Amino acid sequence: MPTALITGITGQDGSYLADLLLSKGYRVVGLVRRSSTMVFGRLAHIQDEIELVQGDLHDQGSLVSIVERYRPDEVYNLAAQSFVPMSWNQPVLTGDATALGVARLLEAIRLVHPEAHFYQASSSEIFGKAREVPQNEETPFYPRTPYGVAKVFGHWITVNYREKHGTFACSGILYNHESPRRGLEFVTRKITHGAARIKLGLADELRLGNLESRRDWGFAGDYVRAMWLMLQHDEADDYVVCRGETHSVRDFCDAAFGHVGLDYGDYVVQDPRFYRPAEVDLLVGDPQRARDKLGWTPKVSFEELVQMMVERDLEILRSKGIP
Ligand code: NDP
Ligand code: GDP
Repeated sequence: MPTALITGITGQDGSYLADLLLSKGYRVVGLVRRSSTMVFGRLAHIQDEIELVQGDLHDQGSLVSIVERYRPDEVYNLAAQSFVPMSWNQPVLTGDATALGVARLLEAIRLVHPEAHFYQASSSEIFGKAREVPQNEETPFYPRTPYGVAKVFGHWITVNYREKHGTFACSGILYNHESPRRGLEFVTRKITHGAARIKLGLADELRLGNLESRRDWGFAGDYVRAMWLMLQHDEADDYVVCRGETHSVRDFCDAAFGHVGLDYGDYVVQDPRFYRPAEVDLLVGDPQRARDKLGWTPKVSFEELVQMMVERDLEILRSKGIP
């Protein structure tokens, strides 16, 4: 039975990846950081099938001892301070976890278990002020946020360990991916949760920022499959993972409210509080390498994604006794 170590297992992607690896017969170990309220909502359905161990990307010693103790065949580094607006408020913390955390984990692998295959959760935010459209693995980086800057470090240190130390290390440059398990602060889930609340009479408006902003949105369940495929290939490489098509925040609102029979124009209010100081340019990727080398293709369409998220939010709210 192969062993996988997942950092960020309590997050959206961590929970989908744990589902996938369990279905493939892995022993799944998740690194979690200590908090005063240990609530692992996204893992409730598999809590008896996974092992959780305490550690933190800020703490080198904890990473070394976890890698030493479990000697994982595969390490997926999904942990990060992952919310872009917060990276302007806490750029130093973002750099320490999202950038230096990658180096700490790679060091732990190099020192105690260099055979492990390593996956780094890189991001389309590294393209930022995009040099070309669509972006591929050769497109130069131009990050526009402290989060993007930190992810550039994470990407290059991964490449560096592969080239210098021979680590089997892959960087997945993933575009935005969403699901019913997405954090409520991200725009897609904010919209589907907002539309569900309005439909059930629990709210009468939804305040958003820039409605013209566009993203290449996919389904998280599809994207974790690409992560796994990268570590099964016989050579380590970097891959752009995306659908290759964009939609605006306005399109997303239209689809989500439309699904519950409402017109978003009657409820969505644009609020300057949610505008960003610097927006990225048109981020749309070219997933050809992932398609050709890994045989990866996304299965869930934009419309199916929006519907799945709205339906689940309605279900969650109703299960709390709300009509
Ligand atoms: P989430 O924000 O849902 O999850 C982040 C995870 O990181 C949580 O489990 C969190 O733990 C953990 N974490 C944060 N800081 C630390 C730390 N110092 N030590 C240990 N664990 C920590 O992110 P997603 O699941 O959406 O994304 C997974 C990864 O993919 C992230 O690295 C993200 O930046 C990247 N990515 C995501 C994209 C997306 O669209 N979702 C697109 C491209 C890249 P806790 O529960 O304790 O907060
Ligand atoms: P990101 O791509 O990782 O920053 O993902 P987000 O879901 O946070 O944001 C995607 C886009 O939606 C960005 O261009 C935001 O400017 C835009 N957006 C518009 N309104 C909102 C909002 O109310 N919240 C968030 N998070 N983003 C918004």
